[in-house]
This record gives sequence, C-alpha cells and structure tokens, in this order.
Amino acid sequence: MRRRRMSKRQSMCSFLAAVALLAVGISYGLVHHGQAGMQVAAGPDTPEAMAAGETSPEKYVLLKSDFSNLPGMAEIDKPVFDRYCLWQREQLNLPMALPQVEPHVGQKIAYLTFDDGPDGKNTPAVLDILKAEGIKATFYVVGTMCEKNPEVLKRIVAEGHAVGNHSMDHDYGRLYMSKDSFIAELREADNVIYSIIGMRPVICRAPGGTVGVFTKEYDRALAESGYVEHDWNVSCQDATPQWQDASQLIGNVDSQTNVELKDNMALVLMHSCGGKEETVKALPEIIRILRDKGYSFGVVTPYTPQPW
Ligand SMILES: [Zn+2]
Repeated sequence: MRRRRMSKRQSMCSFLAAVALLAVGISYGLVHHGQAGMQVAAGPDTPEAMAAGETSPEKYVLLKSDFSNLPGMAEIDKPVFDRYCLWQREQLNLPMALPQVEPHVGQKIAYLTFDDGPDGKNTPAVLDILKAEGIKATFYVVGTMCEKNPEVLKRIVAEGHAVGNHSMDHDYGRLYMSKDSFIAELREADNVIYSIIGMRPVICRAPGGTVGVFTKEYDRALAESGYVEHDWNVSCQDATPQWQDASQLIGNVDSQTNVELKDNMALVLMHSCGGKEETVKALPEIIRILRDKGYSFGVVTPYTPQPW
C-alpha cells in the first residue's frame, strides 16, 4: 500500500516538475517580450491562487527562488515558506541551503508550537482558541496526518500560522536509521504539504527532538537541504508516559517559565493530535499565564533563536 502511494506521488511530482519547468520557460519568454509580472506558476502567489483567496500573501513571506528576500527580513513575525519543493529546486538548478541569518533576540516572546497534527478535532479546537485570543502559533505537521486532514492544514495557513515539517509518519525506526533516511522523510512530507498548500515549510522539528539522535552529519544534511530545526525549551508535558490533566499541563508551563530563559524566549512544546483534549482545555490558561509574565506571541521562522 505504501509502495503504491509513493509511486502515485512520484508520478504527480514528475507532472508538477514538467509544469514548473514549462512555466519557467513561458515566464522567461513573456518577460523578455515586455510582459513583466508573469511569475513561475509554482507557488500560491499565482494570480489564480490569489483570486481564489485561499492563501493571502499578506499573511506570510514567500521566499524568492534565490532566497534573496530572507537576509535582513523585516517581517520576522510572519511565517516563512519556500515556493519550491526541494526536487523542484534541484530540477531548476536553484540554491538549496538557506542563507545564514542572525537570530532575532528582543522582548520576551513565546512561540507556542503544536506537534503531530493536523487531526480533525483537537487542531481545529486549538485554532479556534488562537483565533479568539488573536495569537499566531506554529504547527509541526506530520505528512500522513496532512493527507488525512488537508482542509485543516489549509486553515492553519489561511489563519496566519506557521507550518513546520515533522516527518512523513513519525516512525523513529525509519527516521533515524541515517541522516539520509531522515532527509528522505522530510522531503516526502514536503511533497504532501506542497500538494495541499502550494508551499514548502523551511522550518522543521525532529520527532522526539534532536538530543541523543542527531549527529553533526544530520545538522549538515539539514542545512544543505534548506531546513532550520528547532527543539523546545518549555514543555507542557502532554506526551509523557503518565497522562496529565489540564491543571498539571498548566502548572508545567508555569513553573518552567518562572526562570530566566535563554534569549527571552519560551519555545513551548504542545501537541494537537488525537487524545490531546487536556491540552486544548489547558491552552487558554497557558496563554493567560504567559501574557501575565509579559510575553508576546510569535511564529517560528529561520530567525527564531535555538532554545539551547
Ligand atoms: Zn512528534
């Protein structure tokens, strides 16, 4: 079943590659005939996508083909996406590695992050709360979950939140066989995400975190492939072996943010998949506590400092 799914996707990839290459050719031709403004039809900023209103360019930053709009980016509070998948960058002979940028350090910022979704119940409930609170957050999504709940992924983007790659199927055995298997999983998930929202995340989070599994080879492979990875420095602990209720989850975030955190930053790990109803229940109070401690809320971008 897995093999059939992959081959179908690969044939779709070949088709998209042909479309992208054709579009480059058309764009090049039109620009050189005085019809500037025609863009490569490979991202959501095509006139059709903008007219459909599915994703608004004001809500995120779409990186240029050469990444030249990333360094010195003024809009560090907006999600950042790539208009190309990595296989498209390879075929178009475009750069893969993101330019190095200085992490943004300033006032106290809390980055709320929700892993392992999108599901059809708890992720929408989290989105409802974030909307009511006027807060943007970051969702580290799993490829297989995106296939099951594409409309929820579209809603995450449409409401101005960031999306990070959290692997294809969260299978530690497959993921951490080698750096190559890890990157292959990210690329597979990217293709799924791209097929739904027309953009590639440039941020990712290693399932389970990088500690103890990442070597320098993983770090190098990630950088060469155009990803920035972030673990966390605050955890509500909603994925520990012992089940915890909402009040315990709130207490965990409260106690971990009573200390001075590196770079004034609380990078908060939570989950929004099935079974995380207590996280949904705890979220409004977690937001209130962080606000009371002087935190504003941001989305994870390549400018977000590392948590340690
Ligand atoms: Zn996870």
